[in-house]
Amino acid sequence: MDVVILLGAPGSGKGTVAGRLVAADKTLRHVSSGDLLRDAVRRHTAAGDEAEAYMKRGELVPDALIARLVAELMAELKGPRVLLLDGFPRTVAQAQMLDRTIEDCGASLSAVVLLDVPDEILVNRIAGRRICPACGAGYHVTNIPPRVDGICDACGGALKVRKDDNPETAKNRLAVYQAQTVPLIEFYEARGVLRRVQGTGPIDEIVERARRTF
Ligand code: AMP
Repeated sequence: MDVVILLGAPGSGKGTVAGRLVAADKTLRHVSSGDLLRDAVRRHTAAGDEAEAYMKRGELVPDALIARLVAELMAELKGPRVLLLDGFPRTVAQAQMLDRTIEDCGASLSAVVLLDVPDEILVNRIAGRRICPACGAGYHVTNIPPRVDGICDACGGALKVRKDDNPETAKNRLAVYQAQTVPLIEFYEARGVLRRVQGTGPIDEIVERARRTF
């Protein structure tokens, strides 16, 4: 199994790009650390209860907690040719934990795709983001609107604003990205696996640019 990491700020489009790549190629599998955590919070697992307060503040949950969730999932995965990791790793310590997990699974890291998006666009994307809590599909009020206002195209669920997309928490998440995740760019650049992709413009073009990197 090849692992492709999607790196980028909150609102850079990691989930949207991963969702479209997987829809077009069934040999890919998308794992979002944020979705894993939101699901754990909803189910009130021990990990979810521990993660909830961090997520509400827009801070990162402890490295070991999220690394364990991802490692458990990767150990169970059978079949995908490529695993798209969205939102993990987010710190250098997590990247080092992921190296060990990749080795344990007999997988290999094939690319780290950095979605490059200017800050002012990130703020607008986060403000307009809507998600379907039932099936996880993502929308944007103007960029990717659903066919019927407020209703998920895929499953008919009622769309919601993510709790941590409020302006105050979103601002904190962008600051956390700068402080804790940006060092990963250099970390992976030094290994020669970083692929920069312009994350603005028509969504199909962004997806195609990302697809060509691995
Ligand atoms: P996301 O859906 O990727 O924007 O993540 C939502 C929230 O989940 C983040 O603001 C963090 O609180 C938490 N989270 C997601 N992925 C990670 C990670 N790799 N490390 C630490 N916290 C994470």
